[in-house]
Amino acid sequence: MPVLVVVGANWGDEGKGRMVDYLAQEADFVVRYQGGNNAGHTVVNEHGTFKLHLLPSGVFHPNVINILGPGMVIDLQGLTEELADLRKRGFQPQLRVSDRATVCFPFHRMEDAWEEERLGSKAYGSTRRGIAPAYGDRTLKKAIQIGELLFPARVKERLKGIVEWKQRKARGLYGEDKVVSFEEMWEWTQRYAEQLKDYITDTCVLLEEAAAANKKIVFEAQLGTLRDLNYGIYPYTTSSCTLAAYAPIGGGLFSHTPDRVIAVVKAFSTCVGEGPFVTEMGAEEAAVLRESANEFGAATGRPRRIGHFDALATRFGVWAQGAHEVALTKLDSLSGRETLKICVDYEWRGKRLGRFPLSSYLEEAQPVYIEVPGWSEDLRCIRDFHHLPAQAQRYIEEIERHIGCPIRYISVGPERDALIDRGPQYSRARVSP
Ligand code: GDP
Ligand code: MG
Repeated sequence: MPVLVVVGANWGDEGKGRMVDYLAQEADFVVRYQGGNNAGHTVVNEHGTFKLHLLPSGVFHPNVINILGPGMVIDLQGLTEELADLRKRGFQPQLRVSDRATVCFPFHRMEDAWEEERLGSKAYGSTRRGIAPAYGDRTLKKAIQIGELLFPARVKERLKGIVEWKQRKARGLYGEDKVVSFEEMWEWTQRYAEQLKDYITDTCVLLEEAAAANKKIVFEAQLGTLRDLNYGIYPYTTSSCTLAAYAPIGGGLFSHTPDRVIAVVKAFSTCVGEGPFVTEMGAEEAAVLRESANEFGAATGRPRRIGHFDALATRFGVWAQGAHEVALTKLDSLSGRETLKICVDYEWRGKRLGRFPLSSYLEEAQPVYIEVPGWSEDLRCIRDFHHLPAQAQRYIEEIERHIGCPIRYISVGPERDALIDRGPQYSRARVSP
């Protein structure tokens, strides 16, 4: 696996962190290539349970070099605190931060929150970590690159201009009392730059050399296809590209295309935040599965919305990812259900759509389900596909058929080894629409 990309094919929280932690056992580098600390990856391994937000999920492997790539927006305070937490628990991860990544400032967090409040009932359901404003500023060329922190005089000057612009915006849009002080922002910048400066480097050169030496590189995505800025359920998306095709750009590896793309898919549907969610369960049914499957956001603790498996959305999800294979997670959470529904199409104004549509259709789309029998057995100790109850095998095979991509891995627990690997024959050329 010289260059491998692990992505989500749903709305996020599919269990990418769990899969990256498993795959990193064989890796030399793990690279996050987009997003910021709005992510939450939960990793459970022999050391305990960890919630990662900015750090790549390779941090538990002492030989892995973890890279925060150029495509990320990085809250310096968030990163410092996350590192401190990990050190407290006995880890000293090898870490490099791209000099081209973007700084996410406290004023981005504030702006995020003010805008959500202004929108009221029409809010996006942002985690309020400042991600959209930070990416927005990068596009407007009003951001600070991490590498600039090594040039204090330059960064001070630029920050002054940016804060002045922010103050005008904040007053005009959100009211007189919404101000950001340059002195505070400069103090914040200096404090955290000092703690992180030794990690900042040109990670592109490092990765290029690693790839040339045939090192094993894993790119790790945050969120999933349906939250992708370009192809997701816009505007209820994130503000960056979550697709595997973006990994070489956001991760900074120019001369090697990925050899293998693993799309992580959850055995039922969940989503955090706002936006249309066609297969959403009724409140009571959702509450039961939410509790038993512990579906609460890792970044915010928010209860996740729960739905039946959406094969139409997932088919689109794995296609847009150019996936070679799927890792299906949380199958164990479905034990004890009499029947299971799989959404195989949407009906819109009396017509079958046949493929996942543009967001504008979704509010009126109705799910078309097939129903398959459930199982009652506990799956958590099973490590062989053929030892799964026949109904569970059938559920997997139905999903596989409807999403059009082989399911190689089946996860039956959050722990690193709670995984069935059906082998490399369950991988193939890229999926077509
Ligand atoms: P990510 O954002 O894609 O990395 O996913 P999250 O970590 O936010 O959410 C996935 C949750 O499911 C985490 O709490 C994992 O520990 C947990 N998890 C992952 N795979 C399995 C599984 O196969 N079974 C169970 N029960 N939990 C799992
Ligand atoms: Mg998550």
